[in-house]
Amino acid sequence: MTLQALAFQQCAIGMALLDEKGRWLDVNEEFSRMLGMTRPELLIRRYDQLTVPEDIPASHRERDRLLSGEVESTDLEKRYQRPDGSVLWVRIRASIVRDHAELGTVLVTQARDVTEERTTRRALEQNRSSLELALAGADLGLWHWRVRSREVHFDRRASRILGYHPDEVDSRDESVMALCHPDDRPALQKQLQVQLAGASQGMDLVVRLRRRSGGYMWLLLRGRVTERDERDRAVQLSGTMMDVSKWKELEARLTRLASTDELTGLLNRRAGVVALDESIKLSRERDRPLSMVLLDIDRFKAINDTLGHDVGDQVLAVVGAYLRDDKRARDQAIRWGGEEFAVILNDTDADGALAQARRLFDGIAGLASQIGELDYLTASLGVVTRRPDEGSRDLMKRADALMYRAKEAGRARIETDLAAA
Ligand code: GH3
Ligand code: MG
Ligand code: MG
Repeated sequence: MTLQALAFQQCAIGMALLDEKGRWLDVNEEFSRMLGMTRPELLIRRYDQLTVPEDIPASHRERDRLLSGEVESTDLEKRYQRPDGSVLWVRIRASIVRDHAELGTVLVTQARDVTEERTTRRALEQNRSSLELALAGADLGLWHWRVRSREVHFDRRASRILGYHPDEVDSRDESVMALCHPDDRPALQKQLQVQLAGASQGMDLVVRLRRRSGGYMWLLLRGRVTERDERDRAVQLSGTMMDVSKWKELEARLTRLASTDELTGLLNRRAGVVALDESIKLSRERDRPLSMVLLDIDRFKAINDTLGHDVGDQVLAVVGAYLRDDKRARDQAIRWGGEEFAVILNDTDADGALAQARRLFDGIAGLASQIGELDYLTASLGVVTRRPDEGSRDLMKRADALMYRAKEAGRARIETDLAAA
């Protein structure tokens, strides 16, 4: 055997020589091994017999291109059918040698088994399309932050969520950070740093980002480091973004519902306590006076008993609407419970509070005419002005005591801490 023949036979790449008609002249060991046959078995078969039928036209086309002199060499991927029924994908490079002394015109082909590579590629493509489907279904946008170049890339969907065309977003990380609502920015920056530092859990936070058209939207941002360098430093952070504005609206609605009294539309007691605490805090910080009225409808039980519970409800609703509409913008009206109401009088001293209480007293008396069956309506009021260092509990307690004093003194009257002071 010549050295050339030996090299041909033992070459680790599959090699085959074919004549102009596509008949095998010779194949090497590797080629027959790939096709699952011995060399003699292979050589007695025709080349077209082994090619998967769908790939025959493409094979012939490439052969003709070589024979016509259009090209000197050509590449193609094709399938062979093995005797055991399995299919082999090969990547072929074919070249032409013309007028060889012994063999005439010869097609020299090298073949590599790319079955596994194709399978992996297919699986990747399938994964990618499944991922695409999942992202589209959940309407998730993708983002990638390249740490070193300080660039943020939004995919098509992420851009669209924010109202941008894909290539329109300014990708510098500081520009993207500037889209974040100032109140949410510190939390976002902190989370990104935590992730860079190697957090065990991915980030998961809700922030407001500015849309292209202006105005903020609520987004759920999830992400983690997706690439590190050889020294384990973060190179890339990637994640998803999802528009959760609708959740936020719902949440706001639920919060509103949870803090509102159904019958009167006023703040309920729980929200009222929060509001009072907030008012006290502001009064303290700004060194401004704060007063409060606690009012209880007189002989309300008798209204229920004689005119019915529905009329009772109607009275409460009318008083609630009156308090809501009559109060000054800075004040807050609360249904404290039953037929008891509170009005927080912000930035109001004792004299101002008494004037407000008188207005309320008269206003409530005037409401009787709105309810057909009712001849008169009165309330007993306790009016307090916050003392230095007084908290909401003590303030309420004093208001309550004054209101009871009004009841004891015969109802339909106002008691203030002015006289006591
Ligand atoms: P006083 O002058 O001492 O305040 O007497 P009153 O009858 O107004 O007070 P009392 O505490 O004896 O009765 C209050 C009644 O209010 C008892 C309760 O059944 C009724 N009530 C509480 N909440 C509601 C409500 O939402 N609707 C109606 N219709 N009645 C209510
Ligand atoms: Mg009452
Ligand atoms: Mg009462």
